[in-house]
Amino acid sequence: MTEFLKPKVYASKCLGFCACWWNGTTIFSDFIEMIKPFVKFVTHCPEVEIGLGSPRKFIRIVMENGVKRFVQPATDRDLTDIMKEYITTTIESLGVIDGFILRENSPSCSIERVKYYHGRDRASSIADTGPGLFAEAILNEYHNYPIESDGRLRNRKIREEFLTQIFLLSSLRHVMRSQHIKSLIDFHSENKYLIMTYGQKYVNKLGRIVSNAERKQVEEIMLEYWDTLLPAIADGRKRSSTTNVFSKIFGYFSDSLTREEKKYFLHRLEEYRTGRVPLSLVRELLRLWMLRFDDEYIRRQSIFEPYPQELEELADFGEYKKEQTKRD
Ligand code: SF4
Repeated sequence: MTEFLKPKVYASKCLGFCACWWNGTTIFSDFIEMIKPFVKFVTHCPEVEIGLGSPRKFIRIVMENGVKRFVQPATDRDLTDIMKEYITTTIESLGVIDGFILRENSPSCSIERVKYYHGRDRASSIADTGPGLFAEAILNEYHNYPIESDGRLRNRKIREEFLTQIFLLSSLRHVMRSQHIKSLIDFHSENKYLIMTYGQKYVNKLGRIVSNAERKQVEEIMLEYWDTLLPAIADGRKRSSTTNVFSKIFGYFSDSLTREEKKYFLHRLEEYRTGRVPLSLVRELLRLWMLRFDDEYIRRQSIFEPYPQELEELADFGEYKKEQTKRD
């Protein structure tokens, strides 16, 4: 089993860390509960930290002359300046973060679909929606980073992608701290097939950086690698690229398989390609053969275990609770 470093993840504080949601409650997120043992969380509540307390009267974003104002209709307070100051200071202090989980339905933290209003009180919302004030700043500052809402993370595919990205970035950060070019070469080699699922062109591009034909300084190469990998993975894995990768890996074993085994795998691969079965099903078949045939190069590929296996097995929260009960 691979040893994983804990990625640093920012989460909205109301997501199970504090009773600071506007009505004085906390919001349960099964995903956050599941990943707690595997990541290092940094949490904040912008609205409480600007002094609004909990519970508090609701806030809304009002458009005034094309500018977003952050107001509390019940008290007629305009909190735009204090919130903007808070955002600047908080973002400066965050430093390196591998991913963000932000609360949906919040004028501060939502990454999308926040209603913007015409006026401070009883005015109708305008057709446009967008991110909350704090989330907007995070989306700009941490462009291309894995940034998700607790709502979107209820989707299994989005969970898998988020986990894959935060563990990949955390592992690269570790390599960058080492400042050893050998570590970067190993990282590239071990993640080759995983990165290929985002597109073959990225593997080629990153490979050229690692080969360092221009004899650049290690620090410069590491930064270039990071700046290339981040946007490469931002749009998520492509089903067509992933199908090709599985097919290539299958090529390592196919000579040793029976006709029936080959037929079964190709049938499952086609089902994955057309969206009828999840990625994990095909990957598990390949993992079994990886273990059986013990090919050193293939065994080291992170595509077989992009994040801790416990998280894969516990992708469904019902299973997680059962596991926890068994352990207690
Ligand atoms: S959504 Fe953001 S501002 Fe609202 S309670 Fe949660 S952490 Fe605080």
